[in-house]
Amino acid sequence: MSHSGTPGGQPGPQRTTDRAPALSEPARAYAELVAGNRRFVGGAPRHPNQDAGHRAAVADGQHPFAVIVGCSDSRLAAEIIFDRGLGDLFVVRTAGHTAGPEVLGSVEYAVTVLGTPLVVVLGHDSCGAVQAAREVATTGTQPQGHLRAVVDAVLPSLRRAETEGVQDIDGIVDIHIAQTVETLLGQSPVLADEVAQGRCAVVGVSYRLAAGAVRPVAAVPAGFATLGEEAGPLDPAAPAAA
Ligand SMILES: [Zn+2]
Repeated sequence: MSHSGTPGGQPGPQRTTDRAPALSEPARAYAELVAGNRRFVGGAPRHPNQDAGHRAAVADGQHPFAVIVGCSDSRLAAEIIFDRGLGDLFVVRTAGHTAGPEVLGSVEYAVTVLGTPLVVVLGHDSCGAVQAAREVATTGTQPQGHLRAVVDAVLPSLRRAETEGVQDIDGIVDIHIAQTVETLLGQSPVLADEVAQGRCAVVGVSYRLAAGAVRPVAAVPAGFATLGEEAGPLDPAAPAAA
């Protein structure tokens, strides 16, 4: 991989000014996730970076190659569905992958301090948070307690789906994933600048609970998800947290 000069144990950005062509690292990071998901789907996971030796190797510092902003659904465990291990993924999960201030701050930390080149919004079919928001939109009955904050964060996606004439739950989920990508970039000038500079990309993917496969539904820059598949995975012998 191109940023091999990133020894463990050194906190802070590991960037150089002469990095490879724009999107090289984001595209390779995405290809790594796609490759891991294919292993998982095919029933042939390698469980990389989960051994005691790697645990010790990453204890002094982390250089995750992707941020996952995912739904909290118990069937959506990021390291499992992307077949990765310790130090690989910086994971932020909320019900319905809502993107409030703490989520935005966590993403910015990974991207700017740890130098992570990819942000993935991970939604899924039959999402309960989206279904709850749809029920509120339909019945007008507000949920109890702080669940309302989750529903309120999903409602703009419901309104957008209504405008676009999308009614099936999984179509609404796709819109909510795309909406979350836009929210991250719209609410975080820091992240938007990293993307504009070509140091980072943001991809929204939808996961199918039964099949286990992810499918890109949104990407910034546009077309990035295709780029990632063409770039080929990172060298498995040189993980990001080497
Ligand atoms: Zn969900």
